[in-house]
Amino acid sequence: MLEKFRALRAEHAAVSAAGRDPFGVAFDTVLSATEAVLEGRRVLLLGTNNYLGLTFDPDCIEDAAEAVRSLGTGTTGSRIANGTYGGHAALEARLARFLGRRSAMVFTTGYQANLGALAALAGRGDHLLLDADSHASIYDGARLSAAQVTRFRHNDPDDLRRRLRHLSSQPGEKLIVAEGIYSMLGDTAPLREIVEVKREAGAWLLVDEAHSLGVLGESGRGLAEAEGVEAEVDFVVGTFSKSLGAIGGFLASDLDGFDALRLSARAYMFTASLPPSTVASVTRAIEVMEARPELREALRRNGQRLHAGLSAAGFMLGAMPSPIVSLPMPDRERAVLFWNRLLEAGVYANLALGPATPGGKPLLRMSVSALLTPAQIDAAVLAVARTGEALGLIGTALEAAE
Ligand code: PMP
Repeated sequence: MLEKFRALRAEHAAVSAAGRDPFGVAFDTVLSATEAVLEGRRVLLLGTNNYLGLTFDPDCIEDAAEAVRSLGTGTTGSRIANGTYGGHAALEARLARFLGRRSAMVFTTGYQANLGALAALAGRGDHLLLDADSHASIYDGARLSAAQVTRFRHNDPDDLRRRLRHLSSQPGEKLIVAEGIYSMLGDTAPLREIVEVKREAGAWLLVDEAHSLGVLGESGRGLAEAEGVEAEVDFVVGTFSKSLGAIGGFLASDLDGFDALRLSARAYMFTASLPPSTVASVTRAIEVMEARPELREALRRNGQRLHAGLSAAGFMLGAMPSPIVSLPMPDRERAVLFWNRLLEAGVYANLALGPATPGGKPLLRMSVSALLTPAQIDAAVLAVARTGEALGLIGTALEAAE
């Protein structure tokens, strides 16, 4: 059975040969949202999705602890059986209120939110139009649906328009899927133009705000809020595993009849629900996110500081400043070497390789948290710059991301 993975095993061994296994990092301990201990040494965390730093928020921890003591460690069942407690329903109501939507449903992960939403919404005879750089959960959701799948070029509304025109004579609903911030390069979708195309074509629009919730928009509702197009977004997907510092996912909408999805989204129906501790910490995290806009502001400043520091050091950066800053690497070998050396210099970033990256190109992905101090960011920039210099990768060798 496992013979078919021979090539994959060889590739993995080659990637690990330069030092450690980049896909098997296990922290000895995590000290805070910004620091951990790895192999007995303190490292700066520059490769998490802990945008607002809420994993160690004292109020979130307290509420989670109280919930685990009073309600136990798990629900042992799915939302449609024994797995819905008052807290799940309250979280959905709280989330809907935060998002300004009529309805929200909570999934056990963001991955499952996309699986459940896409597979239930788009059925046989329908069409899904996916940005080519969509997250794996969107592709997997599309595979699970019986719909016809069309990919459009990344962030290219004209290509989307062409493809929709091509499909115009075909029956069935058309659902466009885009992301707020794309996780690998940190670029945002051209949402206003996508909305124009959506209107022309009479299509529906789902936006996955996984990386933009709590990050973009005046109130942190995401890219659609920042672009002023929330009314045109029919479905919002998001996750609790990034700015909200826990785990879980959601689908929200204003459409009538939304609750039918609770009896048709299989990734909601056939898996155990979130444990009470997570429900409690996420509910509190939404409060914190609303009450402390200064976290979002600090996050924005930190993204800019990292971006500016790396640009000044001579790196050519693709996307505009965002909490995610990625350095394109010339090849896999040097990407692996860079990642290892940077870790030895005390900075943990993400090594991202194909097929997870746009065009399969290797990337050193970094992301900031609101809780990183300017001194920590400057130290990280220095470490990245020294590593880049030592490997001869500053300036000429690195091409800006397309
Ligand atoms: N959508 C996008 C765009 C993501 O980047 C991710 C996670 N990286 C997910 C969904 C899945 O979220 P989760 O980790 O909560 O399963």
